[in-house]
Amino acid sequence: MERGSDQSGCLQCGRCCERWGWNQRGTVEDLVPWIREGRIEILRHVGIRLKDGTRTSGIDLSLQDLPEIQQIDYWQHPDGRRMHSCPFFRRSPAGKAFCGIHEYKPAVCRDFMPWKGNSIEFAGNCPACRERSP
Ligand code: SF4
Ligand code: SF4
Repeated sequence: MERGSDQSGCLQCGRCCERWGWNQRGTVEDLVPWIREGRIEILRHVGIRLKDGTRTSGIDLSLQDLPEIQQIDYWQHPDGRRMHSCPFFRRSPAGKAFCGIHEYKPAVCRDFMPWKGNSIEFAGNCPACRERSP
């Protein structure tokens, strides 16, 4: 959930992605560009529950299937087991955290901005937030 070179003041420590970057829910809107652009490397890690109760992977979806989705889970192994970390989390040789799918990250990641006070639970663990405290 690093913000790279934007205005957040994010220090790219990576704590937010390590702690919160998994066991999150997705939106149908997240899936649209991934399906349209054939982002298989992302879709293979997306867990899907359909309205009829069946479970599948994002890799098996087409745009026509989207109205049938009940729930979207981040992230899962290609064999369907839940992951307990984000498969797209990366660190540079210097230790800076970054997102391997930055241009395509889901809304739950794009909207995670603890420095704006929308994640009180996590703000205390974000060094960028602490540095902004009065
Ligand atoms: S998708 Fe990117 S921003 Fe979201 S948790 Fe994973 S590494 Fe972090
Ligand atoms: S915990 Fe805060 S400083 Fe660290 S990567 Fe996340 S937003 Fe940036």
